[in-house]
Amino acid sequence: MTDKTVDLRSDTVTQPTPAMRAAMLEAKLGDDVFGDDPSVNALQEKIAAMLGFEAALFVPTGTQSNLCAILSHCQRGDEYIVGQMAHCYRWEGGGAAVLGSVQPQPLNHQADGTLALADIEAAIKPDDAHFARSRLLALENTLGGKLLPFEYLQQATQLAAAKGLRRHLDGARLFNAAVAQAAQTGSDTRTEARRISQCFDSVSVCFSKGLGAPIGSALCGSRDVIARAHRIRKMAGGGMRQSGLLAAAASHALDHHIERLAQDHALARRLADGLAGIEGLQVEAPQTNMVFIDLSGAAKAQAAGLLGHLADHGIRATGLYRLRFVTHLDVEAAGVDRAVAAIRNYFKD
Ligand SMILES: *Cc1c(COP(=O)(O)O)cnc(C)c1O
Repeated sequence: MTDKTVDLRSDTVTQPTPAMRAAMLEAKLGDDVFGDDPSVNALQEKIAAMLGFEAALFVPTGTQSNLCAILSHCQRGDEYIVGQMAHCYRWEGGGAAVLGSVQPQPLNHQADGTLALADIEAAIKPDDAHFARSRLLALENTLGGKLLPFEYLQQATQLAAAKGLRRHLDGARLFNAAVAQAAQTGSDTRTEARRISQCFDSVSVCFSKGLGAPIGSALCGSRDVIARAHRIRKMAGGGMRQSGLLAAAASHALDHHIERLAQDHALARRLADGLAGIEGLQVEAPQTNMVFIDLSGAAKAQAAGLLGHLADHGIRATGLYRLRFVTHLDVEAAGVDRAVAAIRNYFKD
């Protein structure tokens, strides 16, 4: 047994692989603010073509990518319709409102992570001086590890378009969604990633999550959307210079780390299966690379010491009464089995 820490806090904790580091070292560099970093330009072209868009913009974070998207689609006094638990509503410091004077209109999620079509329709305001102008529908896929059903994406985005709204996808984990969807349809991952993306006017993808790159996201869209986003990225301080170093890592991830996400999903199932049947633990069946566990009864009373106990056994996770475990590139079956053993051991008596 190895003593290596099994870090299940997030899929952001991955270290670049030796091959990825080599790709970074070899990257041809320029100055991307002058638009002449060949590695950045190549990455932008690659991801745009892959997802079926005219253009893409490499940005340091997913937060900045969503900000650039929302501010590209919306003006001051516009609003975007978004889920209560969506990253671009809840977890980004209110950036669209603070920096863009764009008002969010949050909606509650259904159990499967979707926003009910009737709720979306009811939230779209008439053209009346009392209201903010409803301009954008922002969805997230995967959301909390859940794959939004493809038919739903089609219906929700068609509804938005019919009402004159633009559509943005926070696809931080788009490729996890595509891998899970491909497993359902029997099609291939890239086809599914493209089908999902084509429901939207813009899509943001994180390279720094399950794809295993150290830093970076891309926003994809039409040339117009990306031209506006480019200006906003500059304003937000995201114009980077020899960022080809980072783009090379992201490009390597697109070439080598997409299909392997299926292994992360299998490990999440292994973890969930391993924890089945412990009294007071409700384990949600994982759809992608996240396992959520709710504690109740006697297990809830023991919750306070659990993360400490796990840390003592070299296992890291987040949460308290609702724990989250995320599998990724740097987690192996043996690590998952150690986590299962440590949790079982904690609730043994
Ligand atoms: C991680 C994440 C982001 C962006 O996160 P950054 O830390 O800013 O890169 C955006 N949306 C979702 C759904 C995410 O999980």
